[in-house]
Amino acid sequence: MKIENALKEIYGKVYTGKEIKLLYSYDATGQAGEPEWVVFPENEEQVRKTVEVALEEKIPVIARGAGTGQSGGSLPVHGGVVMVFTRMKRIEVLERDMVCVVEPGAITGRIKKEVEKYGLYYPPDPASFEFSTIGGNVAEDAGGPRAVKYGVTSSFVLGLEWVDGTGKLYRWGGRNIKDVSGYPVHKLLCGSEGTLGIITKIYLKLIPLPPERDAVLLRFSTPEEAGEAVLEIMRMGISPSSLEYLSEKASSLIGLSGNYLMVELEGGEEVEEGIRKIRERFGGEEAGIWEKRKKLSPLLYRLAPIKINEDVVLPRSQLPEFLRFLSKLEKESGVHVVAFGHIGDGNLHTNVMCEKRETGERVVVRIMEEVVRRGGSISGEHGVGIRKKAFFRLQYGESERELMRRIKKVFDPEGILNPGKIWD
Ligand SMILES: Cc1cc2nc3c(=O)[nH]c(=O)nc-3n(C[C@H](O)[C@H](O)[C@H](O)COP(=O)(O)OP(=O)(O)OC[C@H]3O[C@@H](n4cnc5c(N)ncnc54)[C@H](O)[C@@H]3O)c2cc1C
Repeated sequence: MKIENALKEIYGKVYTGKEIKLLYSYDATGQAGEPEWVVFPENEEQVRKTVEVALEEKIPVIARGAGTGQSGGSLPVHGGVVMVFTRMKRIEVLERDMVCVVEPGAITGRIKKEVEKYGLYYPPDPASFEFSTIGGNVAEDAGGPRAVKYGVTSSFVLGLEWVDGTGKLYRWGGRNIKDVSGYPVHKLLCGSEGTLGIITKIYLKLIPLPPERDAVLLRFSTPEEAGEAVLEIMRMGISPSSLEYLSEKASSLIGLSGNYLMVELEGGEEVEEGIRKIRERFGGEEAGIWEKRKKLSPLLYRLAPIKINEDVVLPRSQLPEFLRFLSKLEKESGVHVVAFGHIGDGNLHTNVMCEKRETGERVVVRIMEEVVRRGGSISGEHGVGIRKKAFFRLQYGESERELMRRIKKVFDPEGILNPGKIWD
C-alpha cells in the first residue's frame, strides 16, 4: 500500500500487528476505534512528513500521548495513522528565564520533578499527572485541583510548535512572558484535542516552588451548605491552591460521612495564617484522610457496574442550587449520582452509576441541560472528544459553531486531523 511504504521510508518501521493495534485502540473511556498504522515519531520532521503523506491519500492522523483521555480524543474512530508521542520526551529547563521547553511525549510528573531540582514549579496537576503527557495536557487544556489558584494548562503555555493538516510547521510564542504582537494563535491549539494541529514542542512558564503547603478538611451536613462555603472561602483573601468537594455518597465510599470540602493553601508564611482563619470560621479536621480520595474512582463500581463520568462547570454562584438539583435528580431517577471534584472553580465530576447505560444517559442529558440553563459549560477539563458531541449544540449557537468549523478548515482543510472528534 502506498501510505504504508511512505511511512516505512519515514520511520524505518511501521506497526500493523494485531496486538499493537489493539493496544492503541483504547483510552480511559473504555470506548474503542482501531488504527491501521501505528508510528512513533522521534522528531518534528517525521511528524511533518507523516501529515504530508496522509494528506495525499486523505488518511486520518491521530496524535496520542498516554491515552488517559476521558472523552475519547485519542481514539482512531475512522482508522488511519496513530502517532504515539512516547519517544519525543525531551525536557530542557531554562533556569534564568524560568521557562521549560518540552516535547509533547514528556510525562507531566517528570516535568514537575525536573523543574523542582531548580527550585521551580509547574503547578498544573491533573490527577493523571504521573502518567499523562504534556502534549495530551495541552491538547485537552487539562486542569486539576490546583487550577483554582494558578489556572489550567494553557495559563502556562508561552509558546508552541505544531504541524497543521497540510504538513506545514508553525512556531508561535516562546520564552517571553508577555507577547501581544499579533494574534495569539498558539492559544487556539490549547484544548483543540488534536483537531487543529499536531504539537511538537511546548514552552512552559514556571514559578518559584512554594515552600509551604497545608490543608484542612471541612464537614457540612448538606451539599448546599458546602456550596455556600465555597463562595465564602473564595472571598476570604487566602487564595486556596485547591478547593475540592466530596458529596455524602462519595465520602461514604471512603469511610467518611457528610459533605466535605478540602482546602489546601500553598505559599510562604501566609499559609499558617490562612489555615487558622479557615479553622476559626468553619472548624475542620486534619486533611490527611484526603489521601483516600485518590482511591475513590474504582470504589464507585461498588454502587453499580456502569459509570458515566462528566466534568461540568458552573458559575460559582450557581453551585448551591445545582448541588440541590443533583440530590433531587438522584431521588427521582433511582440511579446513583455521585458528585466530587474541583468545586473551587465550579468544576464538578458528576458520576452517574447505573445498571443500564440508556437509563444513565437519560440522567446525563438532564444534568447537561441544567448546567447550560445555569450558564455553565459541558466540559471543564476533559474536552468534547466523541463523548460530548451531542451536547455541543446545547452550549453553542449556530453562528459560534460555524465560526469554529471555519477555523478548523483553515488549520486542516481536508479534515484529516483527528476526524470524528468535537465534530461529526
Ligand atoms: C485517573 C485519571 C485522572 C484524571 N484526572 C484529570 C484531571 O484532574 N484533570 C484533567 O484535566 N484531566 C484528567 N484526566 C484526563 C486526562 O488524563 C487528560 O485529558 C490528559 O491531558 C490526557 O493526556 P494523555 O497524554 O493521556 O493524552 P491522550 O489521551 O493520549 O490524548 C488526549 C487528546 O490529546 C490529543 N493529543 C495528544 N498528544 C497530542 C499532540 N502531540 N498534539 C496534538 N494533540 C495531541 C489527542 O489526539 C487527544 O485528542 C484524568 C484521567 C484519568 C485516567
